[in-house]
Amino acid sequence: MTHVSETTTPERSAIETGDMLRAEPYMLPVVPPPLPESPGPEEIADLSAEIRELTAQKNAVILAHNYQVPEVQDVADYTGDSLGLSIEAASTSAERIVFCGVHFMAETAKVLSPDKTVLIPDTRAGCSLADGITAQQVRDWKAENPDAVVVMYVNTTADVKAETDYCVTSSNAVAVVNAIPHEKEILFGPDMFLGSYVEKMTKRPMKVWMGECHVHAGIRPADLQGMLDDHPGADLMIHPECGCSTSAMEYLACGDIDPDRTYILSTGGMIEHVKQSDAPEFIVATEEGIFHPLRKAAPDRTFIPATEGAVCGFMKTITLRGLRDALRDDKYHVEVAPEIAERARIPIERMISITG
Ligand code: SF4
Repeated sequence: MTHVSETTTPERSAIETGDMLRAEPYMLPVVPPPLPESPGPEEIADLSAEIRELTAQKNAVILAHNYQVPEVQDVADYTGDSLGLSIEAASTSAERIVFCGVHFMAETAKVLSPDKTVLIPDTRAGCSLADGITAQQVRDWKAENPDAVVVMYVNTTADVKAETDYCVTSSNAVAVVNAIPHEKEILFGPDMFLGSYVEKMTKRPMKVWMGECHVHAGIRPADLQGMLDDHPGADLMIHPECGCSTSAMEYLACGDIDPDRTYILSTGGMIEHVKQSDAPEFIVATEEGIFHPLRKAAPDRTFIPATEGAVCGFMKTITLRGLRDALRDDKYHVEVAPEIAERARIPIERMISITG
């Protein structure tokens, strides 16, 4: 199987040794659709008012991921990371959930809330990482390793989750792997950077699927350390939400960037950090959507992207117009077959029970 690191050890991962092999070609194009044009302030105000009216009429709730464009975040009922939004989806009393994020996230909301209508405003909102592994590939991998435990990043389709023992996010992956009996072999996917990071933190070898998010292709350790050198008063913040920042976590674990000025933080943690820190500047290693809540929380500070162009075009397919149309025309429905949802719920709930 060419897309798996078979020789990984905690001391020297496949990424470091150069044994890393690329994943099979993605099912969706790796290059996301071109970024849509932003509406002007007047159109934003009109569309936002229309959306709020439709939300009330249709008994709907709008959940928006932190990587959405600012105007979509501003009109949403809740903004947050993928797991937080799924938990929010499960607890809402609204009939309709309009999920402004990528498809696997909306699927997770549907898996946790099977009786609710879940809509996604744009069907092109895929994910290069989630599409880096299929359910059949997981079945084949398990057949080759029948005694292994399957641990998958939450950035996977419901079909893949149905083949999985434990789901993880970037922030709880270490805790979940540590909770698995030590004698058990682990198949970890689909993010090779997160896999390598977890191996280092747990000192436990795993078989790691060689998938990655196209956004973090632009985030390199020399760039991050160079940014710290160029901005001696700045803190570096890494947001462990998505595949676009797991490479930076891996570089930190390898000692490639200064640990004293580097913080791995959730969105809430970042907002608290910028309020409490004396640093005038913050270098931020993640998708650029996170700058919107940070600038709102601390308008007097300067936020610098660790790399220009860390933009998830899949997330940006969702626009205010698309959101308005989804509410008005009741589209596009996210469906997960009940037998898949039942099996996919198990690894998600195990993860939630381990990390609280
Ligand atoms: S940033 Fe990467 S991992 Fe996150 S949704 Fe976009 S393509 Fe997927």
